[in-house]
Amino acid sequence: MGIWGADEAAALAALGLHALQHRGQEAAGIVSHSVEGFRQHKGLGLVGDVFNDPRVIASLPGRSAIGHNRYATTGATLLRNVQPLFAEFEFGGLAVAHNGNLTNAETLRKVLVRRGCIFQSTTDSEVFVHLIAISLYETVMDRLIDAVKQVKGAYSLVALTSDMMIGLRDPLGVRPLILGRLPHSGAWVLASETCALDIMGAEFVRDVEPGEIVVIDDAGVRSIKPFSPVSPRFCVFEYIYFARPDSVLEGHPVYTARQKIGVELARESAVDADVIVPVPDSGVPAAMGFAMESGIPFEMGIIRNHYVGRTFIEPTDHIRHLGVRMKHSANRVVLEGKRVVLVDDSIVRGTTSRKIVDMVRAAGATEVHMRISSPPTRHPCFYGIDTPEESKLLAATHDLASMAEVIGVDSLAFISFDGLYRALGHEGRDAMAAGYCDACFTGDYPIELVDKEGRLVA
Ligand code: SF4
Repeated sequence: MGIWGADEAAALAALGLHALQHRGQEAAGIVSHSVEGFRQHKGLGLVGDVFNDPRVIASLPGRSAIGHNRYATTGATLLRNVQPLFAEFEFGGLAVAHNGNLTNAETLRKVLVRRGCIFQSTTDSEVFVHLIAISLYETVMDRLIDAVKQVKGAYSLVALTSDMMIGLRDPLGVRPLILGRLPHSGAWVLASETCALDIMGAEFVRDVEPGEIVVIDDAGVRSIKPFSPVSPRFCVFEYIYFARPDSVLEGHPVYTARQKIGVELARESAVDADVIVPVPDSGVPAAMGFAMESGIPFEMGIIRNHYVGRTFIEPTDHIRHLGVRMKHSANRVVLEGKRVVLVDDSIVRGTTSRKIVDMVRAAGATEVHMRISSPPTRHPCFYGIDTPEESKLLAATHDLASMAEVIGVDSLAFISFDGLYRALGHEGRDAMAAGYCDACFTGDYPIELVDKEGRLVA
């Protein structure tokens, strides 16, 4: 999240972070700049906890600010890993916020440490800071370009210096980044998703393009394209699960995309049933699409508790296990005596699905059919979505029939690749031609995995 040219830039950045909280709930931070220099505030927890006191925002003066919500895919949940990262360089201060995962960060880190760089955090993102610091180029921009040409992986970055704000996406554009503008002040906004613009009344200007650097200063916005163009590979899982449904990504409203996937799923895997029930929240639009296409009534047969405490967002197996019952409960009045189609976005380990199915049966469902709005998740993501290693992915170790048995359903079906891409408007086209990454479903990794878990994969 970034703001350039607005009074109370830090307050606007905090608003944006609230809207983007679904992208990371472990920590939040903001760095602002004013005539007094750079100021920062970071903390572990939700945006509302970290920025819970008006004095905190007041301590972040200036007309420019960048912010970050952390979702740990590399590095532990420690205060020193919270972004934006800030460092003083030869040319002045620079703050950086990174969304995505680098796939050669460990390799680069070893080289950098050997050259004398002292790392403050355990995140992959810090390699940007050191690559910029040791670059032999003179200007900030040349140093940044020098740095991004050495990293591999998925990255959308927002950076702030005393006289400019920078937004950039990796050449394949795996993670989103959009440019917006506040109508009255003319201030510029960078954010991961359009929902962050809506919360502050900003207008959508355009997506930052894959491989593009946008430089925002008091003269306006200019674009630099330092990479040779390649076919983009936007994360298809953003549409299925990760992004907020009211966001528009790469020209596609996420809500509509999810509904259309539900329609395709109903066409492909129809079943005689009495009620279509989403696993809330992310399964809701796909379940609506399924219900519209099948003509079977849509009902909220599972109720989600939105007030689950912070303990339950820790990404550990133990807490995830406990969290299921805290998060969802069965709505007996909808389920009792019914043949139920449960619609969910994905099956990862299968443990959550099993508990939900058990809960639905315990509430009196006579049949439970599961329909999934993604293809089977058979491979981990190395580009910024927290998926477990292959051996823990149910679809990597089980065929369809044994998956159905493990999660305890009468039938199970996933959307096909054709159905998924048809829903996204790409009739009969494969992921590469359609411009998506779908590696967690296919194993076709579009960016080389240089150092993940010590493996060298070309
Ligand atoms: S591997 Fe899956 S989750 Fe990761 S970027 Fe590709 S599509 Fe998205």
